[in-house]
Amino acid sequence: MKILITGGCGFIGSHLVDTLIKRETNVEIVDDLSTGKIENISLHLKNKKLNLWIDSVLNKSLIDELVAKNDFIFHFASAVGVKKILDNPLLSIESNIEGAKNIFTSASKYKKPVLFASTSEIYGKNENVPFKEDADIVLGPTFKKRWGYACSKAMDEFLAFAFKEERGLNVIITRLFNTVGPRQSESYGMVLPRFVLQSLSDKDITVFKDGTQSRCFIHVYDVVDAFLEILDSPDKAYGEIFNIGTTEETTILNLAHMIKRLTNSMSKIIFINPESIYNTGFQDMEKRVPDITKINKLLNFTPKYSLEDIIKDVIKYFKSGR
Ligand code: UDP
Repeated sequence: MKILITGGCGFIGSHLVDTLIKRETNVEIVDDLSTGKIENISLHLKNKKLNLWIDSVLNKSLIDELVAKNDFIFHFASAVGVKKILDNPLLSIESNIEGAKNIFTSASKYKKPVLFASTSEIYGKNENVPFKEDADIVLGPTFKKRWGYACSKAMDEFLAFAFKEERGLNVIITRLFNTVGPRQSESYGMVLPRFVLQSLSDKDITVFKDGTQSRCFIHVYDVVDAFLEILDSPDKAYGEIFNIGTTEETTILNLAHMIKRLTNSMSKIIFINPESIYNTGFQDMEKRVPDITKINKLLNFTPKYSLEDIIKDVIKYFKSGR
């Protein structure tokens, strides 16, 4: 089997690459290295099973050629992180929508199945947690840049269903909830790597507002397991949306305390206004909890790693010099 992974040098994509290469699968990657890193896949660079294209999903002819010669496509390439999205709104929207359109067009043409990585951002400000896949999308105003990302991912989902309906695309939509673990960069605003690095260097741990907002953090290894479950029985999943996340919920203040304890840090936990970091366009979600009944029932998926396991793995990763 030959698999194409867009965004394969990124945090999530590279972990999937590791597992597929271990399974002796042929893997082809397209990554423009805008946020992905060659180091993430450096172990496999000499492996004949891996083929890397440093290019963009906006390169239509390359995408067409690669989709044609692979059997299954994981489409991960996308802008990531609240900070990156607020800093580059145009690029984020354009690459999300045009990139998905290029993938879906070629995949329909050559009848190749696609797993599309969407996001829990889609649920936006909906407060009725846990979110089921058929929950309403509740977004903020268009002048708050954060919602442009959610909206572009939602548009990708609309596109996916339109391609399914009109061109017979075999597509699976996964909505990822706060995925964390080794290789996640602190540069794009994600809270867990930020707090771990702040703690390891005894700098202030920057909790936004009062830290009562909560998230459910899932280990990237669990997310990769979910992808493999889908890859191994795609027939059950075509045309469906699946939340992928854990239901273990924690407040951001509790996260800060856990990380401080697990790093034996001298850091102070401070409370700051996020606007002091993200000039404009930021709005926070108070809660984000997935309902994972669907993926659990259909594919027997349950996350294995606790938040403490994840934090320990991230600490080890940063301590190893990456
Ligand atoms: N957060 C924080 N301090 C930081 C970065 C983020 O308190 O230095 C908070 C942020 O306000 C949010 C949560 O951590 O409530 C998760 O933020 P992240 O950007 O990792 O993910 P998302 O908001 O997309 O869930």
